[in-house]
Amino acid sequence: ESMVQTKWAGRQVVYYEETDSTNIRAKDAGEKGGEHGSLFVAERQVAGKGRRGRGWESPAGTSIYMTLLLRPTFLPVKAPQLTLLMAVAVVEAIRQVTGLTGGIKWPNDVVFNGKKLCGILTEMSTEIGFINYVVIGVGINVNQETFPEEIKDKATSLKLETGAGIRRGELIAAVMERFEAYYETFLKTEDLSAVRARYNRLLVNRGQEVKVLEPDNEYEARAVGINDTGELIVRTKDAEKTIYAGEVSVRGV
Ligand code: ATP
Repeated sequence: ESMVQTKWAGRQVVYYEETDSTNIRAKDAGEKGGEHGSLFVAERQVAGKGRRGRGWESPAGTSIYMTLLLRPTFLPVKAPQLTLLMAVAVVEAIRQVTGLTGGIKWPNDVVFNGKKLCGILTEMSTEIGFINYVVIGVGINVNQETFPEEIKDKATSLKLETGAGIRRGELIAAVMERFEAYYETFLKTEDLSAVRARYNRLLVNRGQEVKVLEPDNEYEARAVGINDTGELIVRTKDAEKTIYAGEVSVRGV
C-alpha cells in the first residue's frame, strides 16, 4: 500500500484532500489510540500551524504538509530533541532527492540562502509525567512558484531553487526512511549524540553573531553549535551559555 521502505514510519498513511492542520489530525488520532508511525498528509491545510500560534501558508497541490504520530517511551523532557532529528532527516532527504543542500536554522527551520524551505512543529501530550504521544509536523515548500507578500522575502521552495519539479511522494519516503533510522538510534542513546555533528555542520547560525531575545533580556552572542540535548551553545565576551528552544528566540541567519 505504501511506497515507503520503512518498518513503521509512514507505513500507515491517512490522506486528506483538505484539512485544518495535519498536526491537529495527528493529535486527534493520538487521543483515539492511533498507531506509532502513522502519517497524516494533506494536499492543503486551511489552518496550518507554526510555532507560538503563528500560521503556516499551505496552498493546494504544491507542497508537503505532513505529521508523524509517535508513541515514545522516553521522558517528556526529551521530546523537543525530535525536532532537531527531523531537521537533519529533512535536509538529507532533500539532498538525496534534489541534490540541493539546505541548512538548518536552530532549532527547527530548514533554509536555503536565508529563506525558509521547511518548518517543523513538534507537539506532545503527557499523562502522569509520561508521554502519551508526540506529533511532528513537517511543512516543505516543494513546487510553489510564488508566496504571499508577507513572506515572499523569507520563504522559498525546492522548485524555485532547483528549477525542477519534484515528486512529493519520493521526498516523503526519503524523509521517513531517514527519520526512522535516526529515531531508532535516539531510543538507544536518548540524546542527539549520533546526529549532533551532522546537525552542527548544517547549522547556518554556526560561528555567527546571533541576537538572543529572552523574555526580559536581549544580548548578542556567537553561536557555537548544539550540545547532545539540542540546546544551542552561544558564547558572549565573558561567558558560554546554553539556550533552550521555545524559551528564547534567536535572530540573525
Ligand atoms: P521565525 O521564522 O520568525 O524565526 P519560527 O521559526 O518560530 O519563526 P515557524 O513557526 O517555524 O517560525 O513558522 C511560522 C512562520 O513562518 C510564519 O510566521 C511565517 O512568517 C513563516 N511562514 C509561513 N508559511 C510559510 C511557508 N509556507 N514557507 C516559509 N515560511 C512560512
